Amino acid sequence: MSLLQTLQSNPALFVATVAFLSLTIGSFLNVVIHRMPKIMERQWRAEVAEAGGQPAPAEPRYNLMVPRSQCPACGHAITAMENIPVISYVVLRGKCAGCRAPISLRYPAVELLTAAVSAFVAWHFGFTWSTAAALLFVWAMIALAFIDLDTFYLPDDITLPLLWAGLLVNMGAAFVDLQTAVIGAIAGYLSLWIVYWGFKFATGKEGMGYGDFKLLAAIGAWLGWKMLPVVIMLSSFVGAIVGLSLIALARHERSNPIPFGPYLVLGGLIAMFWGDAIIKYYLQSF
Ligand SMILES: [Zn+2]
Repeated sequence: MSLLQTLQSNPALFVATVAFLSLTIGSFLNVVIHRMPKIMERQWRAEVAEAGGQPAPAEPRYNLMVPRSQCPACGHAITAMENIPVISYVVLRGKCAGCRAPISLRYPAVELLTAAVSAFVAWHFGFTWSTAAALLFVWAMIALAFIDLDTFYLPDDITLPLLWAGLLVNMGAAFVDLQTAVIGAIAGYLSLWIVYWGFKFATGKEGMGYGDFKLLAAIGAWLGWKMLPVVIMLSSFVGAIVGLSLIALARHERSNPIPFGPYLVLGGLIAMFWGDAIIKYYLQSF
């Protein structure tokens, strides 16, 4: 029996394999979350210089692969042995091997979260192409949520490819038919665009950013327009609860911005797994 046949006939082994491999993806997502904002800043600096007729500032090469990861405190280059997901963190007791500076708990947390959500995808969709597609979706969503938390930006370099990928996988009707996906992308963008301008006219403030429109467009491309009300309701509901809790705990000024991306991500993931059940329940109740 081939390896693929073994995985196909043994769901528990399939889920465990996906979980294990996804720890490494989680490790890569940590790099994306950390570096993507810095890569964007460099692009902006280069564009500003170009617009002013200046040569682009000379900076050492910096992308998702180069340079090797370093300790931000002492510059110690992280070795392969120190880069094993979760295990290295435990072995090093959460401290840099060079200078003993604490390593953020977020690194192993993102790795474990990625593994857990990926395992759930594998269990939910089984040994199908939908699992392969859904894994890409959730990995991009995890990276977007954390980048937005850190920087209040949702990079076009992730949201736009995610949108195209959604249309592509639904050409084969992986989640919805292509027509539902195309309308989903357009309606996703427009619905938040309208809220944005309505809010701006009413209050003179900006409640969210264009990145949020593109993210909801991408979610619409993957899950179809019928899921958009579910995604918006879930994300607004969770966002309101978290926002009010932060204000009540005085951890947050009322006027400070709260990134909306993480809630859209949460709403999108819940809708992917349970959206059909939620819609059915809702329609039966009314
Ligand atoms: Zn160090």
